[in-house]
Amino acid sequence: MKPQIIARPDHTVSRKQISASAIKVLYGLKDAGYTAYLAGGGVRDLLLGRNPKDFDVATNATPEEVKRVFRNCRLIGRRFRLAHVYYHDEIIETSTFRAPAPPADEAPDDNNTFSTKDGLVLRDNLFGTPEEDALRRDFTINALFYNIADFSIIDYTGGLRDLDARLLRVIGDPDQRFIEDPVRILRAIRFAAALGFEIEPAAREAIRRHAGRLEDCSSSRLYEEIQKLLSCGKAARVFELCCELRVFEHLFPELGAWLNAPDGDSKTHWLQKSFAQIDRWRAAGFNVDPALLFALIFGEYHEWVAAQIVQNEELPHADALIEATHRHIRQLDRIRIPKAATHHIAEIMSGQPRFLKMTPKNAQRIMRHRSFLDAFLYFKFAARTTGRHSAELEWWEQQRKAR
Ligand code: ATP
Ligand code: MG
Repeated sequence: MKPQIIARPDHTVSRKQISASAIKVLYGLKDAGYTAYLAGGGVRDLLLGRNPKDFDVATNATPEEVKRVFRNCRLIGRRFRLAHVYYHDEIIETSTFRAPAPPADEAPDDNNTFSTKDGLVLRDNLFGTPEEDALRRDFTINALFYNIADFSIIDYTGGLRDLDARLLRVIGDPDQRFIEDPVRILRAIRFAAALGFEIEPAAREAIRRHAGRLEDCSSSRLYEEIQKLLSCGKAARVFELCCELRVFEHLFPELGAWLNAPDGDSKTHWLQKSFAQIDRWRAAGFNVDPALLFALIFGEYHEWVAAQIVQNEELPHADALIEATHRHIRQLDRIRIPKAATHHIAEIMSGQPRFLKMTPKNAQRIMRHRSFLDAFLYFKFAARTTGRHSAELEWWEQQRKAR
């Protein structure tokens, strides 16, 4: 297939917008005689006039050859072998053009370059051409290359057209690509939300069909991907899309069931408000502990479980909240929330009943606690969202001012 090539005068990407480190890697490879492209999200974001989070390089040099060009280079990865080129403030991920995953039934069984399990790709390190590399990427807008040799943009998949149309389109057959790697479902939602793009109808249908496969993904990869969904700046839209495409219930089945129980509207309201709050903190440049984000999302559910524990097991409210948090997160086998985060969530929750006691002595004591600020942010959010405890909230705001 012949790519569409856009010469330098006909596009807006300039070297000035690319980080100095990425430029060094691109020129280092080019000067050593290799093909070197800026690839992935960096090209996409520059074309959209957005600030790229990072710059990735794709090349025909093998990882070992990249290492020979750069002294400041380390090879990493098992599933994908990659070269990381280190600079004082940045790491440039440099990957060798890769061939697409062969269909599962053609994959050799016992081969250390490629293996699959039930159609799920476990490891692939087949090097390929730039075209093959573009075609194995997830979405057309993520498959554009910027060629350092002549500053042109190379488009094998119609990504430029889709950028213009603000359309998120899967490369290849959406069913097959989501089966190969179900995490792409969450990536689709993240890009659509963050960039304000539509997901093409065929991909939406495929997402609905295959969302259940998220259950087969590694729980730590899901945890990472969920963090990205929450911190993309458009978490409220992420939640909407997750509900619309029936993804939410596969990520958090227990919350899905709870949402479908009677009184679901007020619960959905809580979740919508939590996601919107996460965006507001982010827009204000506030670096929020992931534990607080999860505490917020799970909060009303944890309160609900805790109320049952209080009733059935006669535990005090604060202890029941700790118990509810641990029970819930223990049974979450899909998403591996780290232990330290779980403890912090439990602390935030068990701190809540303390805000109902308005005595200066109590205030002095708990304001010194290390999780006070996160617990208070939760309390403030909960009070405003439910309309409960507004007198208490006002009292605590005053105590904080007086401090
Ligand atoms: P971000 O702004 O989040 O960094 P990105 O598009 O750069 O977005 P990365 O996760 O950094 O995303 O991945 C870099 C590139 O690698 C992507 O643009 C895409 O081309 C490719 N890629 C990443 N993950 C996958 C995947 N699961 N399947 C296919 N291609 C992928
Ligand atoms: Mg990236």
